[in-house]
Amino acid sequence: MMQQRLTQPNNTTLNTLLQESRSYVRDILQKSLAGEPPTVAEACELFATQGVEKQALLATANAVRQQRIGSTGTFVITRNINFTNVCYMGCRFCNFAKAKTDEGAEFLSVTQVADRAEEAWHRGATEVCVQGGLHPDIDADYYRNLILAIKERVPEIHIHAFSPFEIWYGCKKGRLEPKQFLSELKALGLGSMPGTAAEILDTDIRRQLTKDKLTTQEWVRIIKAAHEVGIPTTSTIMYGHVDQPIHWANHLDLLRTIQQETGGFTEFVPLGFIHYETRLYKDNPDHVRPGPTRDEHFKMHAIARLMLQGHIDNIQASWVKMGPDTATEMLLSGANDLGGTLMNESISRAAGATHGQEVLPSDMVANIHRAGLTAVQRNTLYQPVQTWPLATAIPQSATGLWYSPSQRISIQGVS
Ligand code: SF4
Repeated sequence: MMQQRLTQPNNTTLNTLLQESRSYVRDILQKSLAGEPPTVAEACELFATQGVEKQALLATANAVRQQRIGSTGTFVITRNINFTNVCYMGCRFCNFAKAKTDEGAEFLSVTQVADRAEEAWHRGATEVCVQGGLHPDIDADYYRNLILAIKERVPEIHIHAFSPFEIWYGCKKGRLEPKQFLSELKALGLGSMPGTAAEILDTDIRRQLTKDKLTTQEWVRIIKAAHEVGIPTTSTIMYGHVDQPIHWANHLDLLRTIQQETGGFTEFVPLGFIHYETRLYKDNPDHVRPGPTRDEHFKMHAIARLMLQGHIDNIQASWVKMGPDTATEMLLSGANDLGGTLMNESISRAAGATHGQEVLPSDMVANIHRAGLTAVQRNTLYQPVQTWPLATAIPQSATGLWYSPSQRISIQGVS
């Protein structure tokens, strides 16, 4: 069924909303419109906005998105390959990890990973996103061999792989410095890295999430090492648990500072905490929030757009975490990218999310058109692959890029 076109806030709406806002909020937003990003203190004021001021924030973020990116919305055709769910790090927010002997424990061989990458390539993927748990039997060679096996089988596919935590683990096992290990992986064919495992880059908050996890300093060190050897990364935040707006603003500020130094981030992806089945929430439901509210999702994407403008101009709305409809709405309040048409996404599902698996390329095109934008299939580095202008019908080839409609998996609403 054809869904209704969403309404873009126009300049008149924006001006009215700004006039109806208190002067200090209006000043922050007007400075943002003039290209001056909010400070940490100003971002905290924006996180506290309600009613008409919140609407003014979202409309400003939409206008800044238009200034920075123009009238396009993007997506990438990718396959997530989670090569193992065995992990002993014990992060309390994660329900993906299993012990080796648990039912459902999985550890793919490098050949199986290469098989999945090849299958993805034949179905139109330009990228594979390869991540896994910190399996006790993995060593630096396993990471090297994964890249080698995929490149040997599908030389042209972009390999987006290994979180900073996995790089830390490979370094520890191989007694290597991050720069040395990352240079080797790049030479073998690693194209870029997900900037996951960031959660909240704050020492106290991280301690509450997991006792052994990579520290903020180690995360930053590995990310900077990747950028230094020429491996671009994404950047992320996981929010809506024991954190507060000040942590979000500081996190965005830190990412902005790193980007000023290295220029290596390709995008920022806010990832709302999925609380179902996690120890973090179950052990302390009075203290831990069950993920961000809908308002917080919108504010996070909008404030990221304003704070990161001119530094990280691609803001992704994750349909896996929020559902395709909410992610589409974000395209009118700061975001410009809907992420990937994933084939397998087991991490969020393991934590009980009701979204996941995949949306079709044609769904991505239709959703971006609903937001009144030209749809562009991009590659990992945001170069255009294929474009569907707003007025054009979605071609059959878009529908057929990966799956026939009968193979479509229905996407459910947020529970
Ligand atoms: S978040 Fe990653 S490192 Fe932590 S337990 Fe889960 S799989 Fe392991």
